[in-house]
Formats: sequence, structure tokens, C-alpha cells
Amino acid sequence: MLHARLEPVYDNVVQRNRGETEFHQAVREVLESIGPVIDKHPEYADQKIIERICEPERQITFRVPWEDDRGEVHINRGFRVEFNSALGPYKGGLRFHPSVYQGIVKFLGFEQIFKNALTGLPIGGGKGGSDFDPKGRSDREIMRFCQSFMTELHRHIGEYIDVPAGDIGVGGREIGYLFGQYKRITNRYESGVLTGKHLSFGGARVRTEATGYGCAFFVQEMLAARGESFEGKQVVVSGSGNVAIYTMEKVHQLGGTVVACSDSSGYVHDENGIDVELVKQLKEVERTRIAAYAERRPGAKFVSDRSVWEVPCQVAMPSATQNELGADDATALIANGCIAVGEGANMPTTPEAVRNFQEAGVAFGPGKAANAGGVATSALEMQQNASRDSWSFEFTEQRLEQIMKDVHARCYATAEEYGMPGNYVAGANINGFTNVADAMLRLGLI
Ligand code: NDP
Repeated sequence: MLHARLEPVYDNVVQRNRGETEFHQAVREVLESIGPVIDKHPEYADQKIIERICEPERQITFRVPWEDDRGEVHINRGFRVEFNSALGPYKGGLRFHPSVYQGIVKFLGFEQIFKNALTGLPIGGGKGGSDFDPKGRSDREIMRFCQSFMTELHRHIGEYIDVPAGDIGVGGREIGYLFGQYKRITNRYESGVLTGKHLSFGGARVRTEATGYGCAFFVQEMLAARGESFEGKQVVVSGSGNVAIYTMEKVHQLGGTVVACSDSSGYVHDENGIDVELVKQLKEVERTRIAAYAERRPGAKFVSDRSVWEVPCQVAMPSATQNELGADDATALIANGCIAVGEGANMPTTPEAVRNFQEAGVAFGPGKAANAGGVATSALEMQQNASRDSWSFEFTEQRLEQIMKDVHARCYATAEEYGMPGNYVAGANINGFTNVADAMLRLGLI
């Protein structure tokens, strides 16, 4: 249910952004939480803060022409949505995946505003990407695509303007090619213009691990708030990309056992605990399918075209993509004794599934809070670049863990303050929103 003052706002968003269903879903999810805030602070509605937040400050769409190894020309579409810079330069990743279009980039950019605000660090919200499909492409093709993408994007970004990073399909290799081209075109060694860089040219320790580690830290806090821990728990993680791999690594360090992970072709079930080093070898080095895991690991089995959420577990950590965990999956997880869900991915759980979890009393940590460790560590990378410094792994990980504890505490306390104890969705949305709204009020009509 939406607050009466928010219904027309939502209707207007749907009308003005036709067909962008993921964006509508992300806006609705935030608006459903902030009704009580409008009652307490009518000035936000009077000053049309919500309408302003729902309209990106700037949206850029561009042509990305490139040539494959056989000399054939391809045309992709590039996007950058600079959503909100009330708290700092636009900050958010780039996604290369065939499903990318304006509605996906806007949903991700919108979520990013509140996530970044929740970290307590000085970063605004943005997101970008392309409908380019990196699967099966050679290194040289990836490089040529990244160079063409940056040839346009460089005009719009900068360490004080907009600082992209990785997301689905954009990891360390792509960030390297993008930074190389930025440096070449601008003739500036501007380390702070991109994050997720390799250590040899201004990258930060723990950035690769940050989103997954951070998500595990967040779930650890949710469990602790209920007098529980990862110790002895069976955990299922979806995906086998950057977020999934480092979620699994940290869960194991914290005493849990990850028994299944997946990719878009199916899942692997390994009752002895997923061998994370093998997944790294398959996904980071060989760039192959997760089915290969079962071929190399005795006792593990591969299941194609079924949902990984049918595997029994006490903790579920969806870490692949949006809307990958639906109402039926939630029902199955609850029936199997799941007590906590931490979203490593952005909006992986459908609204119906979120309701199912909440009604069943499952601790549910939304991506905005649970996966904020990635962008928080990106902000730490910007801090190191600005001071030309380089911190140790241990120090950076301690900072990350503290940030995640603080994010959890903010969500928890805000949910209590607004009479919804244990509701991390409300806590995250309200805390993120009020941080941005207060800054916008003070900045005048912008
Ligand atoms: P990667 O590209 O490294 O991995 C993505 C994983 O998800 C792969 O296993 C991929 O399988 C799977 N996947 C992607 N799309 C689909 C799909 N349509 N259906 C089924 N499986 C799919 O991406 P990341 O790990 O970086 O990102 C994962 C999620 O985490 C995304 O939602 C992203 O927005 C979010 N996130 C990432 C952050 C980061 O720091 N990287 C920060 C915060 C959030 P396959 O290879 O078969 O496609």
C-alpha cells in the first residue's frame, strides 16, 4: 500500500517511464517504505523531494561501434544514468549483459542512491552499462569494445563528477581496458575516475572481495541480532561470479558451509561444501560453465534448468541477478527451514517473495544494505587514490567489516524508530532516503 501523497508520484513515474518495469518495481519498493516519513516530515512532500529523486539528474545514451576478430562490425548501445549527486559524485557500476536497457540501468541507479547514502560515505548514485554480451568473446574483442565504450563515456566522468566501477560482466579485466583508454584520451593519470582497478595501477586491496565479504558480514549481524551465527549452518548462494565467489569464501571463514551455487545454466550441489578455489579456477581463470565443477569434484552433482533454491539451507544468499528468487522459491526455502536471506545481488527477490519471507519471520537483508560493501570499498579506493596512499588488506577489511556493522545498525535502529522492528527493508529505505532528502533540502531547488 502506498501513502496517499505517494500514489500520484508513483503513477507519474510509471507514465513518464513507459515499459521500464524494473525501474517501476525499484521505485515502488522504496515508496512503500517511506509513507511514515512523509507523515513525520511533510516538508519532503511539499518540496517535491520524492519527485525530484525519481527523475535522474542526467541520462546519457550512446552508440558503441566495434569490430570483432573476423573484422565484422557490431553496434551496441551504451548508457550512463547520473541519478543523484546530493551527497557526492555519482557512483555506481557498469553492467555488460544482453538484457541491459534504460529500465535496468535506471532501476540500478535508483537503488544505488540509497545504498550509497546508507554507507555514510560521500558518494552520490549512478549506474551504466551496455547490451554488449561478453560471453564467448576473445580478450581482444573485449578490449576493443571497452575502448569504444570509453571513447564516448570519458566526456561525462571524472573523479569529482562520476566514478564508475564493475557489475555483471565488468570485472578487473574490463576496468583495466576502460582505464587505459580514459588515460590515453584525456592524457591524465586520474586514478580516482574508476574503481575496481588492479593493484598495479591504483586499485585497492579487498575491492574484489568486498561485495561478497560485506554481504557475509551483514548476514552475520542479522544472525547475531537473533542470537544465532553462521556456525554449523548450511548456506546456498546463487551465481558464481564476483559477488557469489567471495560470499562463499567469507561464509566458510565464518563457520558456515555453502552447499550449492549456480550460473545461468543450472546449479551444482556439493554436500561436502563448495570448493571455492575450484570455482575461482573455473570462473576467474578458465571462464567456463559451472557444470565443469561437478566433472572435477567427486560427490558433487550438476542440475540443469532448475532453481538452486530447492536445495535445503538455513541461509540463502541470492547473488546473481534481479528477480531470480520468486514466491515459489521463497515458499520452498521457508518449508526447508531457512531463517535468513541476504541479497548479494541487486533486487534478486521479487516483491511477493520478500513478503513471504517477512510474514514467515525470516530475517531479510535487502541488497541496498547487504551488498553495500562493494561500493563502500570503492569509496575507500577513491580515498586512497586522493591521498596517493595504499592500505593493507587487514586494515581495509577491518574498515569494511565496521562499515557493514554500521549499515546493519542504522537499518535496525531506523526500523525500530518507525515502529517496524526487524524490518530491514523499511530501515534501509528510510535511512537512505532521509540522508539524501535532508541534503537536497539544504542544497536549494536543484
Ligand atoms: P558477475 O558477472 O561476476 O556474475 C554474475 C553471476 O550471475 C554469474 O554467475 C551469472 O551466470 C549469473 N547471472 C547473470 N545474469 C543472469 C541471468 N539473467 N540469469 C541467471 N544467472 C545470471 O557479476 P557480479 O557478481 O559482479 O554481480 C552479481 C549481482 O551483484 C548483480 O545483481 C550486481 O548488480 C550485484 N552487485 C555487484 C557488485 C559488485 O561489486 N560486483 C556490487 C553490488 C551489487 P552466467 O555467467 O551464466 O551469466
